[in-house]
Order: sequence, then structure tokens, then C-alpha cells
Amino acid sequence: MSREVGLGLGTALLVFLALSGVDLAPLLFLAALSGGLYYIVRSRGPLLKNMDIAPAAAKQKITFADIGGQAAAIRELKEALDFIKEYNRVRDLGIRPLKGILFTGPPGTGKTMLARAAAAYIDSVFLAASGSEFVEMYAGVGAQRVRKLFAGAREMARRAGKQYALIFLDEIEILGGRRGQTTSHLEYDQTLNQLLVEMDGIKAADKVRVLVVGATNRVDMLDPALLRPGRFDRQVRVELPDRQGRLEILRLHTRNKPLAGDVNLEQIARETFGFSGAHLESLANEAAILAMREGVAQIHHRHFHEAVDKVMLGEVLDRRPSRQEMYRVAVHEAGHALVSELCQPGSVSSLTITPRGMALGYMRQAPRDDTYLYTREYMENQIAVMLGGLIAEEVLLGSRSTGAGNDLKQATALARQIIQSGMSELGVVEVESLPVEILHNALSNILNRQEQRLRSLIDQYAGVVQSVAAILVEQERISGDCLRRILQQAA
Ligand code: ATP
Repeated sequence: MSREVGLGLGTALLVFLALSGVDLAPLLFLAALSGGLYYIVRSRGPLLKNMDIAPAAAKQKITFADIGGQAAAIRELKEALDFIKEYNRVRDLGIRPLKGILFTGPPGTGKTMLARAAAAYIDSVFLAASGSEFVEMYAGVGAQRVRKLFAGAREMARRAGKQYALIFLDEIEILGGRRGQTTSHLEYDQTLNQLLVEMDGIKAADKVRVLVVGATNRVDMLDPALLRPGRFDRQVRVELPDRQGRLEILRLHTRNKPLAGDVNLEQIARETFGFSGAHLESLANEAAILAMREGVAQIHHRHFHEAVDKVMLGEVLDRRPSRQEMYRVAVHEAGHALVSELCQPGSVSSLTITPRGMALGYMRQAPRDDTYLYTREYMENQIAVMLGGLIAEEVLLGSRSTGAGNDLKQATALARQIIQSGMSELGVVEVESLPVEILHNALSNILNRQEQRLRSLIDQYAGVVQSVAAILVEQERISGDCLRRILQQAA
């Protein structure tokens, strides 16, 4: 705004001076000269305006000790970095320098943190850029940015008096996707070619040695040229943390928070199967926010418990469904819970009909040990739990509703997994090459069997579903223990 005002006033002043008969030529010449100088300085200033080129030291330094649940990745990474640190031995033996390390794995697992910690470990400057920052409509712009990035890295290391520069390229599949596949392929290809040229240009004798660290969760999309020896030589898998890993991450992110004595982080770690480090960081943060909203000085276990719902499903909504709709949601959730409890006693932690994010209600299962292998029986029981809500609506209210869309998707995915794992009556088959009709019939068989089983089961326990639904409508939430008491009374 002030710029526009300044320009306006400046122009007005020039017009006034011109009208008053002042000779403006020297003044205009000086203005043009300083404008030109300003432009040159600006364009040669920070090489990459949008990119994160602050040296690691200027930001809060991240070390491997700040990263939880990634012991295997850290071990592998350190091994590769030690190779870099032992530069003299590597050179004497004539080994070519390590130029690139590629992190692969799901989002939010700590890939950026690992890259920052790696920079601190080898005492290098750190530059980060994302693949999308190189994508432009105009051919050559992306390639020029790659050139500037490498030149910028070397310059920054020289200025900081460091031997190493670490360039972190997030979402590298955007810039390093297979060549010739995108519509504006010329631009993409030039950018990737430039990256390959820059990486090939890294020499052991360079004054500043550049290490490129790429990160992607779509390694299948990368151009094979990037993965060939001499480029991203090392691949480090960065997986979702297991239970112990989740506990470590929770401990890291609650270090600076006042925890009450009742907080059981082990239990939270057990309840959060499938959470990434980023989810867990958000969970710890949400728990603290809930404590603040309540006006208490310490974070209690209940805050963490609720924060899990928040991170999984989203914020509680103000929107209130009608009483009739609430009853339907309550029947639906009671159906899920009943089936879960009958298939696996003690498996329900709580159920609620408080609308949150996209969900109108939610049944939470009790924490169990991380499981990576499933039997057919387990899978079928899970399908039954998924369909339990829909069938409870049908049996008790006489009709189904659209609320079960997501359940159906999950149930079908599970049925597909049964076929894929060779556990269906089709035996060992390749799902992709099955005729559509045969696949459809096999899926329907699995789902129909569970539907039939559920109809008689829910019919038998209709009283329990009704009682649980009535309590839910009144209290919005009921615990797994309360559900089990009602079930026992009905037995
Ligand atoms: P993306 O693939 O989406 O870029 P990423 O794998 O690079 O994600 P980070 O950016 O490193 O993930 O992590 C995001 C945030 O999540 C971190 O700032 C940190 O707070 C938290 N986090 C993720 N993983 C871990 C971990 N292993 N230990 C501690 N904190 C973690």
C-alpha cells in the first residue's frame, strides 16, 4: 500500500517540478541508474527466494536424538554418513563419493527431520526445496532453478566455512518422475536432466562436497536414471513407527509439557496403531490445547484419549442432527460395537455419537498389540464389524441409510484382500487378471455370508442394541465397560 502511495506522490512531485520549469533530466538519469542497480542486486541476492536456504545452525538444530521410532533408518543413514565423514580414507582407496541418499516412506514419518539431523551430523549447511517448486510452465525455468540450487549450496557452504552442503529435495517424484510421461514433458525432462547433470558433476576433489538427499512416498514413480548407481546410491526406508517407536515419539513431544500423574503414554502408544510421527506430534499438541480449554494446569490422560479422536476424525462439529437422526446414528454405532464385542470380547473401548469431522458417530476399539498378519477368520470378523452398523439399522429401523458408505468401502477392501491373499474359494489367483464377473461374484459371496450371519445375530441381540442406543441418545457417549454390563445382563 505504502509503495503505491509513494509512487503516486513521487509522480505528482515530478509533474509539479516539470510544470515549475525545473530541468528533470539529471534527476531522471539518477533514478534510472539506482533502479537498475537495485534490480541487479535483488536478482543476485538470495539465489532461491522461495526455498528454505537457512543454514541448519540458524534454525533450531535437529539431531538424531530428536527423532523417535526410526532406529533402523538412523542406523542405515549414519552408516552412509560415516562414509562421507571418513573422506580421506575413502579418497585414498579411490572410492567414488556418495552423492545421493533417498528416503522412501509414508508422509509425516520424519524424513525432513532425518535430513536436518544428517546435516548436523556431518556439519554441513542445509538447503531444502520441494519438487513442486521446480515445476513451471516455461521450458528451462525448472532446470535453471536446479542449477541455482546447487550453485547456491556451494556458495553458502563457502561463506559458512563448511566442507559440506546437504541439499534436501522433498517430493522428489514431482521433479524426478519418469521422463516422457507428463504432458509438458519437455520442461519436466529438462529439469530432471539438469539434476542428473548436477549430481554427475559432484567430484570427490570438490572444495565443497554436495550431498543430495531426496524424499518420496512414490518411489515407483521415479525415473530409473535417478536410481542407477552413482546417483541415489543409498535408499533408506522410513516406516510408520511400531508401538515402541510411537512411545518414544510421544515421550519426545511431551518433554516440554506438564503431564499429570494419570497419563499413561504406553496405553496411548498402543491405541495409535497406524499413526505417523506427525500424527503423534499433533496428538500431544491437541491434548495440551484441550487441557488449556478446560483451564487446568496439567494435561491428563482423558485429554490424550480425546485428542486421539480429534486427530483421527477431526474437530467436534457444532451441527446437531435431529433426534430421529441421532437415534439412527446411535443404532448404527451400537450395531458396530455389539458385533465387535461378540467377535472379540473386550474389544470395545467406547462409542460416541458426537459429530466429528466427516463422522456422525464413532466406535473405538480397545488397544491391542500391533498386528501385521491376519487370518481369514479375523478378516471376516472385521468385515462383520464394518457391516454391523448397516444391518443394525436394517433390523431395528426397517431401512438402511447412506451413513454406511465408508463402512462399505472398507468391508469391500477387506473382502478384496481375502481374495488377493489366496484365502477365498478361488484359491491363489491374480486379482488383476480375473474376469470382472468372477471377481464380483467372489466379493459378493464373502460380503453376503457376513450379512446373513449379522441379520440373525443382531436379531438375537436387538434388545441390547436398543438399550445401548437409548443411552447414547441421552449421554452421547458410552464406555466399553457399560456396553459389556448390558450384554451380560441380556445373556
Ligand atoms: P512428508 O513426507 O509429508 O514431507 P516427512 O516424512 O518429511 O513428511 P517431517 O516433516 O520430518 O515428515 O515430520 C513432520 C513433523 O512430525 C515433525 O516436525 C515432527 O514434529 C513430527 N515427527 C515426524 N516423525 C517424527 C519422529 N520420528 N520423531 C519425532 N517427531 C516426528
